[in-house]
Amino acid sequence: MLCEGCGVEALVLKTCRRRDGEGSEAGVLCDPCWEPLADSLWIVVGPVAAHGRCRVCGGWSSVRELVEQKQGGKWDAPSGVCSSCVG
Ligand SMILES: [Zn+2]
Ligand SMILES: [Zn+2]
Repeated sequence: MLCEGCGVEALVLKTCRRRDGEGSEAGVLCDPCWEPLADSLWIVVGPVAAHGRCRVCGGWSSVRELVEQKQGGKWDAPSGVCSSCVG
């Protein structure tokens, strides 16, 4: 996958959709490109969910960083507890 913001290549990137509905197509962004836009983008959960939502802080984390995972959280993304909330 290639980040549409900076062109970096990464195995797992966030697939995003603009919240205002302008341009319905999803974009693919790496974390540094996504963070400043997080308030205006929805994360689209792909066929293979790469990100899940932390049940404690509500933040998105890579599923690899989530413990106590459950399927079918908000927007059908996996939910769990992120590394910063576990500690
Ligand atoms: Zn990027
Ligand atoms: Zn958390």
